[in-house]
Amino acid sequence: MSTYDVAVIGSGPGGYVAAIRCAQLGMKTALIEKYSSLGGTCLNVGCIPSKALLDSSHHYDDAVRHFEEHGIEIPGEVKVNLGKMIERKRSVVSQTVDGIKFLMDKNKIDVFEGVGAFKDATHINITNAEGKTEAIEAKNSIIATGSKPSNLPFINLDKERIITSTEALELKEIPEHLVVIGGGVIGLELGQVYMRLGAKVSVVEYMDSIIPTMDSALAKELTRSLKKQGMKFYVSHKVNAVERKGNEVVVSAKDKKDQDVSFTGDYCLVSVGRRPYTEGLNAAAAGVKIDDRGRIEVNEHLQTNVKNIYAIGDVIKGPMLAHKASEEGTLVAEVIAGQKPHIDYNLIPGVVYTWPEVAAVGKTEEQLKEEGVKYKEGKFPMRALGRSRASGDIEGMVKILSDEATDEVLGVHMIGARVADLIAEAVTAMEFRASAEDIARMSHAHPTYAEAVKEAALAATDNRPIHI
Ligand code: FAD
Repeated sequence: MSTYDVAVIGSGPGGYVAAIRCAQLGMKTALIEKYSSLGGTCLNVGCIPSKALLDSSHHYDDAVRHFEEHGIEIPGEVKVNLGKMIERKRSVVSQTVDGIKFLMDKNKIDVFEGVGAFKDATHINITNAEGKTEAIEAKNSIIATGSKPSNLPFINLDKERIITSTEALELKEIPEHLVVIGGGVIGLELGQVYMRLGAKVSVVEYMDSIIPTMDSALAKELTRSLKKQGMKFYVSHKVNAVERKGNEVVVSAKDKKDQDVSFTGDYCLVSVGRRPYTEGLNAAAAGVKIDDRGRIEVNEHLQTNVKNIYAIGDVIKGPMLAHKASEEGTLVAEVIAGQKPHIDYNLIPGVVYTWPEVAAVGKTEEQLKEEGVKYKEGKFPMRALGRSRASGDIEGMVKILSDEATDEVLGVHMIGARVADLIAEAVTAMEFRASAEDIARMSHAHPTYAEAVKEAALAATDNRPIHI
């Protein structure tokens, strides 16, 4: 039986990063993945394929709606070839996934294909698709088994017309009317993909706003923008039934006045969140505790109640984000190596890759109010930037919240073109505990969208933006 210093179960952005960091630190490392393709949800059916379709549909949308204003004329009709678009997405995924295989080889990590199940706290059985089992011994294990789409108890996901994000990435036709249950990140991103390609899209959300965990100013602005693009929103609606009738799907709900309403579409995307995934892991055999929400319980070192077993990523508490999983993978590898790493969870950015993009880090205005923190606000609209006018992407704004007494930046909230990339500046600034004035005094290249960050910082410092 082979013996390893560390066995990582699951090859998503948590698991494969943990495996690489363990190997870098000189540990003999095994990576166990039940699918033949490495990379987990993120690379196969999450972050990467959704961004590939967002980018393809964005090009189409530009060609149909925006080229003309730039003086570009296309003789004849611009058409979508959905099959080709999906094929391109598959090729982006396979290139990315192959890259992970290359990295495993480069770092001399042994990859096992099969379901990893604990036999006890130091032995793992790996059973492949043919049912063949082999066992390995692991001094330490890292559980990185991720998550699966959640469902509502009364919905029968037929995966043909009542679908999750996984099927939405592989549709064979453009829906006529896509009803999206859940106005969170995944529902809005995939909703925008199909809306751009010509579908009518209705988003039905239980809470009173979309992206409810983000600063409410972002939700307001994103709702306005997506409505303008044609998306329909039904917030404060509690879905109570989803029925398939031939090629139609009827979604029934109670609206905010407790009236019955229904939405008939040809597809229904159920995007009501994700649940931690531990099926087949046999965590109980190792004595690992799972909490009442199905998550593996961990302490601040991401160690489970069994001292040589750790857990990271979507399968534990915290935001279900690829970069959060990766940071945790690095942390655990370094903890096992005897180092003392640290993650500041307040500084994990959140992004929505719609257009306009939405990005945020730190505290929302609602949180600061609730915590009784006195703060200043600086806001700057994208439309006041030369860069925005040059590209035509004038929607959105940057909002910086800083401490009223010390000027330390407490939260940065953005919506607009390329803010998914701009948020890195805010994370860096906050990691170094910058004040709004620190950001305001840094030179930002002109003309760039990043100038909105400087201007918002000027506004937060002393209400002295230059261009408004
Ligand atoms: P996962 O990526 O879920 O990987 C877990 C792996 O473990 C899987 O490959 C699974 O097969 C394997 N596994 C499970 N059990 C076993 C077992 N017993 N034995 C062997 N293998 C096992 N996040 C972002 O940060 N940015 C985005 O843009 C983004 N977009 C998304 C879009 C969509 C449509 C979806 C669905 C998710 C998106 N996410 C995004 C979330 C992101 O994908 C997850 O947060 C991330 O993949 C979690 O990483 P993980 O390593 O914890 O688990």
